[in-house]
Amino acid sequence: MTTGVTKDNRSITADPSKCAGCITCMLHCSFRINNKFNLSKSRILIDRLVGRENEFDISFTGECDACLLCAQYCPYGALTAIKTGGIE
Ligand code: SF4
Ligand code: SF4
Repeated sequence: MTTGVTKDNRSITADPSKCAGCITCMLHCSFRINNKFNLSKSRILIDRLVGRENEFDISFTGECDACLLCAQYCPYGALTAIKTGGIE
């Protein structure tokens, strides 16, 4: 299953099959929002699938504005950032 968010000319898509559950994305997102690390402030959510050792679900809260920051820091290629047209 693929989840994602689109805002203006920016899209972010998630491939949970590549996710290692490292929560790097959550840390960076929360730091951007909160100016300190606080997982409860993250707009991307990583949940371990019940009964699965290393399988995770990736979802985004309604507050995600597709800033694409989390995709820049995902070390496992589970998040893909796409920008189309527009002014950089
Ligand atoms: S795209 Fe931006 S706001 Fe959305 S989850 Fe990633 S870092 Fe957070
Ligand atoms: S940074 Fe990437 S691999 Fe790590 S938890 Fe987030 S989506 Fe998964």
